Amino acid sequence: MSQGIVSIAYIGATIMFILALGGLSNPETSRRGNLYGILGMTMALLATIIGIVSDHYIILFGGLLIGGSIGMVLARKVAMTQMPELVAILHSLVGLAAVLVGFANFLDHGNVLSGIDKTIHDVETYLGILIGALTFSGSVIAFLKLSARISGKPLILPGKHWLNLTLLIGAVLLAFSFVNGSAHGGGTLALVLMTIISLGFGVHMVMAIGGADMPVVVSMLNSYSGWAAAATGFMLNNDLLIVVGALVGSSGAILSYIMCRAMNRRFLSVIAGGFGTSGGETAAGAEGEEGEIIAVEAVEVAEMLLDSKEIMIIPGYGMAVAQAQHIVNDITRKLRDKKINVRFGIHPVAGRMPGHMNVLLAEAKVPYDIVFELDEINGDFPDVDVSIVIGANDIVNPAAQEVPNSPIAGMPVLECWKGKTTIVLKRSMATGYAGVSNPLFYKENTRMLFGDAKESLSEVLKNLG
Ligand code: NDP
Repeated sequence: MSQGIVSIAYIGATIMFILALGGLSNPETSRRGNLYGILGMTMALLATIIGIVSDHYIILFGGLLIGGSIGMVLARKVAMTQMPELVAILHSLVGLAAVLVGFANFLDHGNVLSGIDKTIHDVETYLGILIGALTFSGSVIAFLKLSARISGKPLILPGKHWLNLTLLIGAVLLAFSFVNGSAHGGGTLALVLMTIISLGFGVHMVMAIGGADMPVVVSMLNSYSGWAAAATGFMLNNDLLIVVGALVGSSGAILSYIMCRAMNRRFLSVIAGGFGTSGGETAAGAEGEEGEIIAVEAVEVAEMLLDSKEIMIIPGYGMAVAQAQHIVNDITRKLRDKKINVRFGIHPVAGRMPGHMNVLLAEAKVPYDIVFELDEINGDFPDVDVSIVIGANDIVNPAAQEVPNSPIAGMPVLECWKGKTTIVLKRSMATGYAGVSNPLFYKENTRMLFGDAKESLSEVLKNLG
């Protein structure tokens, strides 16, 4: 295939990826966005396989077969609730690829460059390996945290900011040593030392971030993986990889910014770590007495719903665990048929990944026009008769406003307690992801419906007549 056709295919793929990003920004167009993405990736792969690779086809197809099969099995097996950890581990692979390509590129002595070209190439290699290594180790730690294989609590080492600064200075000094050394046929030791430092930095950075701030970490690592891919593109002189890497990198950075704003956090403070620490007092702890809990049965909940005019449904991670979204839609339809106004309030960090609740509600075919973002809906709670909190906890925790030293202090929350009655569906009094107890459960106008959300809602549905 001529270089011209490869370039055209790459431009086509780039356009597809841009259209994919545009489509994915809205639940109504997200399926189309996904299709554009698949099409773009197919074009990119075909152009690369047919047009660029000219040798070692057995290794290439072997790799494609193994990687493709693993991807297919994983995608089929993974539950919706495991998506964030899958995304994290996939990011780690992008980072690892950047490290391996970087080393291969450096060790490939056939790559005969000299003068300024060599210096530029060395800097690209160094940066690619640096970003790749910290993306790799940070993503592995994020995977372990999100899958609860290690504690989500932040690990705060003494003098952590000094440690970070030392690592940074070390990486800069090694950069000079590497570029100098490489010009004289060496540099390997500096490159290896920097890789170790970057791996350590990735581990330290994500270990220091508390549970409540993990959404920012997930989107931040997404961004890093994009920059790692872009760096690989520079190393390999592949324009498509540079453009696509930059697209992923910048959209991940924008998403991180949106998540930070949604959680009322400063981006730098989150990366520096220490938010979401276990050192903060829990709401109940701060107030001493926890108060009384009022439990209700499904039949009473059904009566309350039928007596209402305004209902707000607040889904959280527990709805995803219980896979209750279809029953939620059935209940919504039934209530709306009875001329009761039902709306959904979606918190930006509800669930375990950005847009988690929107995806589930779209899957269950809940109409988009009754689904509202926190900003759009939070002022309406005083007019709400009944809020149903389905497997949500942190996102409706008044401690964020009432307890200044709470790990989630300052995070905007859905203020359902300002309505007439709140019904909370969960299985126990356990805390949510951030590990903070929730004073909402003890409020006078809160009723607890204990049990698996799907089972509880099935009972409610039966009693709606
Ligand atoms: P939470 O994790 O705060 O609470 C979920 C609640 O669901 C739990 O308290 C649990 O209580 C309940 N639950 C679990 N399974 C079931 C079930 N089968 N039936 C009924 N209830 C169930 O979730 P939220 O959505 O409120 O908040 C999201 C949290 O996750 C935030 O802290 C956010 O920072 C964090 N996070 C978000 C990410 C994102 O991108 N959206 C990424 C990573 C973390 P019980 O066990 O008693 O049933």
